Amino acid sequence: SKPSADNLRSPICCIMGHVDTGKTKLLDCIRRTNVQEGEAGGITQQIGATYFPAENIRERTKELKEDATLRVPGLLVIDTPGHESFANLRSRGSGLCDIAILVVDIMHGLEPQTIESLNLLKMRNTNFIIALNKVDRLYGWKTCPDGPIVKTMKQQSNDVQNEFKMRVKDIINQFQMEGLNTELYYKNKKMGETLSIVPTSAISGEGVPDLLLLLVLWTQQKTMVERFMFSNRVQCTVLEIKVIEGLGTTIDVVLVNGVLHEKDQIVVCGMQGPIVTTIRALLTPHPMKELRIKGSYVHHKEIKAAQGIKITGQGLEHAIPGTALYVVGPDGDLDDAKEAAMEDMNSVMSRIDKSGEGVCVQASTLGSLEALLEFLKSPAVNIPVSGISIGPVHKKDVVKASVMLEKRKEYATILAFDVKVTPEASALADEMGVKILIADIIYHLFDQFKAYIDHIKE
Ligand code: GDP
Ligand code: MG
Repeated sequence: SKPSADNLRSPICCIMGHVDTGKTKLLDCIRRTNVQEGEAGGITQQIGATYFPAENIRERTKELKEDATLRVPGLLVIDTPGHESFANLRSRGSGLCDIAILVVDIMHGLEPQTIESLNLLKMRNTNFIIALNKVDRLYGWKTCPDGPIVKTMKQQSNDVQNEFKMRVKDIINQFQMEGLNTELYYKNKKMGETLSIVPTSAISGEGVPDLLLLLVLWTQQKTMVERFMFSNRVQCTVLEIKVIEGLGTTIDVVLVNGVLHEKDQIVVCGMQGPIVTTIRALLTPHPMKELRIKGSYVHHKEIKAAQGIKITGQGLEHAIPGTALYVVGPDGDLDDAKEAAMEDMNSVMSRIDKSGEGVCVQASTLGSLEALLEFLKSPAVNIPVSGISIGPVHKKDVVKASVMLEKRKEYATILAFDVKVTPEASALADEMGVKILIADIIYHLFDQFKAYIDHIKE
């Protein structure tokens, strides 16, 4: 079938912004769940995808605009751990996300990671809108749960309205300094040239209907809609590998375009080369639940993009998160698919220090590994890396790291980012004198490593 505006896939949206601006809370608010309070230090370090069906969006935006035409089947929202992972999540060479929400705290304005996110969005040419969050923190704010923002503003005192205007003006100026024109969305006459700002509260829900409706209507505009035309060419990215009771090893993927079927032959990237297997089951969580939350699953014969999907199949335990999944069609070439699947991995392998001296690093996804390598390479950090791995730290990883004991003791170290260490590996490391540093925030690894080197030198 030819791509057409009558057959659209769901847009994929990333939430970005400085830490603590309310990215997770905003998703919680849309979903009416509470993921945020279950997280390590409140910081999102794993990637989650949530599918919001159009019916749900309609329900949420009824008060704002009853007769809105929703042509996309829904919205798939990805809550990224931070800008690094977003930058490194790819789907066949292009970015995984179609559009983004940049969250800014109205009380803080633009912060360092806001600027970094902005630069990434510019680099990737990703369209985005700004959620100006935490409006409920304006002094004297009168709560109107889930209220459309214009209606809500009218009910605020003059003081609140004035503080709001002043802060918005200030933030528009800050964006101007970054070379960007921005305007409150309901005053924005030139969407496309001028970025829209939607004031929100993730706690009481004001402005959230506006955010949802704007996202959907915007993706349906002439200039954007082509991107969301459904195509049969499969575009799919592996997010996570998980062992689930009763299912065995599963992979969580984002299907960006195309259709996946039960029994499809697929190829994914593995540490030891391409993995060729068959899809045993295609599962989705119930709509509105997040992929990373446990629960029962819905089985499918086939699934159409865009969706977050759990796949079961033999051999998937060696798949590498953050890489593309390929389907070998009836007339497809298996060797081509294998080669394509290994491309991302080869590019990461090329970053390892050629001298053979350096620490070992281990991370949960190819994206987080890339982010960690990038960080360790930066001039301010500058820690050489001799080996990499993805997934939990096992005994074999300790043995690999122990090679450095003879050369440079401080490099006989494993920097473990957001991964588990098996008890056997931990015991062996103690025995051999290999240091394992564990953290789920990248820069904490650096602090720990610095402290360890100082300790050795004493
Ligand atoms: P993230 O790091 O961007 O994902 O931020 P979180 O969603 O974890 O939120 C950080 C903190 O800000 C938490 O304590 C939230 O409860 C709080 N928060 C988030 N959104 C709002 C909001 O709209 N209003 C208020 N008052 N607090 C918020
Ligand atoms: Mg978060």
